[in-house]
Amino acid sequence: MQRPRSQEIFRRACDVLVGGVNSPVRAFRAVGGEPVVVDRAAGARLWDADGNEYIDYVCSWGALILGHAHPKVVQAVAEQARRGTSYGMPTELEVELASRIRKALPSCEKVRFVSSGTEATMSAVRLARAATGRDLIVKFDGCYHGHSDSFLSEAGSGLATLGIAACPGVPQALAELTLNAPYNNAVAVEKLFDLHRGKIAAVIVEPIAANMGVVPPKPEFIQALRDLSSRYGALLIFDEVITGFRICYGGAQTLFGITPDLTTLGKIIGGGLPVAAYGGRRDLMDRVAPLGPVYQAGTLSGNPLAMSAGIASLDLLAAPGFYESLDARAKRLGDGIVEALRETRAGSTAVRAGSLLTLFFSREPVADYAAAKKCDTRRFAEFFHGMLDRGVFLAPSQFEALFVSAAHTDADIDRTLAACRETLAAFAG
Ligand SMILES: *Cc1c(COP(=O)(O)O)cnc(C)c1O
Repeated sequence: MQRPRSQEIFRRACDVLVGGVNSPVRAFRAVGGEPVVVDRAAGARLWDADGNEYIDYVCSWGALILGHAHPKVVQAVAEQARRGTSYGMPTELEVELASRIRKALPSCEKVRFVSSGTEATMSAVRLARAATGRDLIVKFDGCYHGHSDSFLSEAGSGLATLGIAACPGVPQALAELTLNAPYNNAVAVEKLFDLHRGKIAAVIVEPIAANMGVVPPKPEFIQALRDLSSRYGALLIFDEVITGFRICYGGAQTLFGITPDLTTLGKIIGGGLPVAAYGGRRDLMDRVAPLGPVYQAGTLSGNPLAMSAGIASLDLLAAPGFYESLDARAKRLGDGIVEALRETRAGSTAVRAGSLLTLFFSREPVADYAAAKKCDTRRFAEFFHGMLDRGVFLAPSQFEALFVSAAHTDADIDRTLAACRETLAAFAG
């Protein structure tokens, strides 16, 4: 597939933008070659600057569960744009979106909107520290919680892609306040609580990990985190920036029946515009300014365009049967991939949680970051390019999920599976 115009634009991009991109994974460093420069998208399709067409499984890193440019979402944004794009003052739209979130996630008794997942997790941790009067936090290797200083050690997503274990520029004094444990290992967490008695403010976790590839929790793991946090007086924060409104109408907490103290949301709740949120128990949230002394603010927070996109999206997701039909399509893809792997005897494992899916190039099951890191990333890169050449756009990293949207048709899935079989068969030959 020829991409001369993409190449020309990317060459100019590299002159004025760092690495030619505004978020590192987009630069294709992990898979080699040059990024696809996007011209436009609709539904499950993406067209690059050269007019090549792709079936898109990135879907803006999961934000677009309805696919690109859903007519109802576009209409909501267009109508709002004519009424003003930002006021810096309250609107009814914020109340509407927050009410929908609370109805779906009853643990979020009160909500605060921000503009990125990074802000949401950073603010939730500030609040947890304020509420407990403690400084330490526990996070899990391979989980990603955005790029604020406290979360950059042994993190997933782009840091996993680039092999960055610790980030320069994070003060040692701050890094020491973050304790890391392996995912799916409650014993390690109990040891940390025991060792740092009365000092841990919060445990933050992706209740279904999706930033080291998809790694579902063992059934007892999340419950153990709930029990340990309560027992040791720490708060439990679910980072549902990916899983919120992805795994069901609600979050992984709804599915598992486990109530966190604080929750962070993002991606889907903005319908493709920059929105994220943190929410939780009323007594905790009431410590945030202006009700309390925990300061957090934002010029564009609760932006009316973004609120409109979020409301339009959630209303479509609330339709009966939405998640059943989405998951059925994702299952068709997942099962097809498993079959293709068996046929071609490719040494890899497919893992699916709802409409999140990862093909790990490893023969071993992947239950934590140490196992994920053992994947054959060169094989993944070959697979990625094989799929791209056949018109299927996957995230350019082994450590990311593939996102199925409601816009992917059975025909799209079948074409994807054909591309997958061809690509894997080429390995065998
Ligand atoms: C994407 C993501 C974030 C960060 O959100 P941004 O909007 O990119 O800052 C945080 N947590 C999880 C689980 C994510 O997937």
